[in-house]
Amino acid sequence: MSLTGAYDTDNIFARILRGEIPNVTVWQDDQVLAFMDVFPQSEGHVLVVSKTSTARNLLEIEPEVLTALTAATQRTAKAVVKALDPDGFSIMQFNGEAGGQTVFHLHFHIIPRWAGREIKGHGHAPMADTDQLKTLAARIAAALD
Ligand code: 5GP
Repeated sequence: MSLTGAYDTDNIFARILRGEIPNVTVWQDDQVLAFMDVFPQSEGHVLVVSKTSTARNLLEIEPEVLTALTAATQRTAKAVVKALDPDGFSIMQFNGEAGGQTVFHLHFHIIPRWAGREIKGHGHAPMADTDQLKTLAARIAAALD
């Protein structure tokens, strides 16, 4: 998938947003969904997506949607830090296949980091246990302001 082309309405996040595939939700409103990455690169890896936009990448996102998405990412990151007490965190966002993107519905990754602990490679992490993801999501959700 290059940077240009049509939005695939059957991409995995579109299917999650339609409720066709389950997800472990941290929080949502009418504009955004924050949910646990099922192949987490570290404990507490959360994804934030727009519910309204079909932008595939940063080049296509409507500025007002980007504003809402960025604010939602900050809100979620604050809760991740409060709940899990990492030493730091990485915000990642990939564009185009050559840029490392694998799901072509724009999203931000929030990846908690602990000093001295390597994160798993992007696209190389094993699938997480759903109950563990639910526990983490509940802890993060409880820390939301
Ligand atoms: P990208 O490579 O597009 O930046 O990130 C896509 C992310 O979606 C990856 O981190 C991957 O682990 C995650 N992912 C892929 N399939 C699923 C899924 O079915 N459910 C959830 N929750 N995450 C997924």
